[in-house]
Amino acid sequence: MSVKENLESILKKIRQAEIKYGRKENSVKLCAVSKFHPAESVIEAIEAGQTVFGENRVQEASAKFNELDSKGYASELHIIGSLQRNKVKEAVKIASCIQSVDRIELMDEIEKQCAKIEKKVEVLFELHTGEESKAGFADYDSLKSAVSLCVMNKYPHIIPKGIMTMAPNTDDQELIEQSFSKARIAFEQIKTEFPEIPFSELSMGMSGDFETAIEEGSTMVRIGTAIFGERDYSR
Ligand SMILES: *Cc1c(COP(=O)(O)O)cnc(C)c1O
Repeated sequence: MSVKENLESILKKIRQAEIKYGRKENSVKLCAVSKFHPAESVIEAIEAGQTVFGENRVQEASAKFNELDSKGYASELHIIGSLQRNKVKEAVKIASCIQSVDRIELMDEIEKQCAKIEKKVEVLFELHTGEESKAGFADYDSLKSAVSLCVMNKYPHIIPKGIMTMAPNTDDQELIEQSFSKARIAFEQIKTEFPEIPFSELSMGMSGDFETAIEEGSTMVRIGTAIFGERDYSR
């Protein structure tokens, strides 16, 4: 199957899940995760109409998306992988959204680097809800403290857009649901506690669990393998 066919099939499944779970039509966006796949694959996706892409390593993303840019392909890049402080400068140059903000130190650096280039960047706060790697804020209270700094205007270049989470990589449907449900509850709670911030994105769901994520309220699924095929980590 080509990237174009895979994309069409995934978009169809997303729309079907919206209907099945009583979600509003087109309330779930697709972030196509192109990590470990070459620029040519991204071009195929762009030509098939895809605009938002996710990458988890800044160096790889920078090389790839600068190449696309120079060839005249417009796209929107989200950084979705854990981000080291020394990669923030490059990350905010190339990305419109950083989905994997998991500590306040990182927000300080994002603010500093964005201020230098006079750019605003969207961020999602990553909440740890059960995934093995422990990435993300450990609990609701630590996430809430980070959000509250935005509310106090400490970060004029950061647009707090929502929450991201990863479910554990397991066949245990119940664990996956628990994980997504935790993120949704945190998302709703933040919206209730801070109605003044533009919280609208709940990024959850990958190739293996996106339909469950849509059932649990996801507004953005991040799908790699089901669009671009298996990743070759030996490259
Ligand atoms: C790689 C990755 C994805 C995509 O995973 P697939 O199983 O290939 O769909 C989604 N989110 C994050 C944070 C990732 O690192």
